Amino acid sequence: MTRKQKILNPSTNEALAEINVAGKEDMEAAINSSRVAFDKGPWPRLSLAERKKFLLKISEGILAKAAELARLETLNTGKPIKESTFMDVPSSAKTFSHFANHLEEYLEDTILELENAKSHLIREPHGVVVLIVPWNYPLLIASWKMAQALAAGNTVILKPSSLTPLTALELAKIIHDAGLPEGVVNIIHGSGSEVGQLLCADKRVDMISFTGSNEVGRQILGYAAQNVKKLIMELGGKSASIVLADADLEAAVNGSLCSIFLNQGQMCTAMSRIFVEEDIYDKFIADFITKAKKIKLGRGDDYETQMGPLISQEQRNKVIAYLEKAKAEGAKVLCGGKIPDATDLKNGFFFEPTVLGGVSAQMNIFQEEVFGPVACVSKFSDVEEAIKLANQSNFALAGTIWSKDIVSAESIAKKINAGIVWINTYGMFYNEVPYGGFKQSGFGKELGREGFLEYTRFKNIISDQTKGAKPLVNYWYGF
Ligand code: NAD
Repeated sequence: MTRKQKILNPSTNEALAEINVAGKEDMEAAINSSRVAFDKGPWPRLSLAERKKFLLKISEGILAKAAELARLETLNTGKPIKESTFMDVPSSAKTFSHFANHLEEYLEDTILELENAKSHLIREPHGVVVLIVPWNYPLLIASWKMAQALAAGNTVILKPSSLTPLTALELAKIIHDAGLPEGVVNIIHGSGSEVGQLLCADKRVDMISFTGSNEVGRQILGYAAQNVKKLIMELGGKSASIVLADADLEAAVNGSLCSIFLNQGQMCTAMSRIFVEEDIYDKFIADFITKAKKIKLGRGDDYETQMGPLISQEQRNKVIAYLEKAKAEGAKVLCGGKIPDATDLKNGFFFEPTVLGGVSAQMNIFQEEVFGPVACVSKFSDVEEAIKLANQSNFALAGTIWSKDIVSAESIAKKINAGIVWINTYGMFYNEVPYGGFKQSGFGKELGREGFLEYTRFKNIISDQTKGAKPLVNYWYGF
């Protein structure tokens, strides 16, 4: 019997939809159809120009349904409608068009003239690629992965988070309407713990591209080890922002607010640790708190809303548990730190924008990803100390530097242990350049030529070019 799952609106805790959960037979069917589509179907064999046309159609399909997709994403995740309308949906469409327009360039063969030989370097798709995505940017991260994997010629099985499958269902319709050949895209709904192992350990799957928590990432590494698969692991973060005394204070305060409170702080690149140079600390913290208190909480689908609810009761409980532990360890709540009192918010999973002071490197909250609207703000006296504090983390995903001295900011950026460092801005992602972390934040890149090439494998064809076609190997034994 098909199992059903209720999908909740985190702004109200009401059911939005009921969807079928995949069983073992559905998984089997998805893996089979992906395998057949790759091994025998047209997709990997299409000309690049034809593949490009399909991807452009998907991009157009997303734009044609932009308002509906934004509404769904907001209802399902709780994120403010402004964010889904102006960030998630258009960026998703842009990723498909970017990789459509660049796939010929990225997949161009390389010919190298070697000593007595010629090398022909070819980029091939891996085969069947499983794409596992989290709930914080369901459509956007699915689009990143799918656009790159498909542009490279792979067939894909997408597994959205069981909390946020609704935009993936719409994406399935868009892909269907774009006319992609059967089996090229399969979408599986189900809890990660139930379907994850089956998908990731299966011999017929060639690659897994995972974005999610460190904990689940480690489990997937274990499943993939059974058959040795290509992996991309985009995991958690505990990123740091360094605000130097010469920064444009207003820009630094406003940008830092976004860097931790956008999407309710549920961002892998959230700047959850903010280090401010002591000369400007008092002014910075006063302005930061004043403005944090003004952030307007509300239902995601209200255009006035600046911060929506967290994704679930469970996630809110996790945030509260981190805060309680931080307080017990000596951290001070400078603002927020509680569930809002407003009656119109009482059913949703809201939590106030929270600022903590008195946090030291030994505390749990300094080290672990909270994934909620909690900023730890501390001061530093010299740049080397700030760099040391920023790097005192097992994660190494992102960093931000606020300073008017760009040359010095760049030299600090080079010393920050992170895959991406922003200077005087935050959260800018481009399809043209790669993104991804180091250390426990994972490995492999998304986006850019480098990220795209993760979805391909290099084949090196070497042919003899010796004079008279007489390579030494043919005479090695003297025969
Ligand atoms: P999660 O790890 O709990 O879940 C991510 C996905 O994995 C979901 O689809 C889930 O159903 C699936 N899953 C769960 N157990 C599984 C298993 N045993 N096998 C296979 N799949 C399984 O993460 P989440 O709570 O959805 O998202 C939050 C996390 O994602 C945070 O740690 C955040 O930092 C991280 N994240 C990282 C990036 C990045 O680019 N580095 C981007 C966004 C989110």
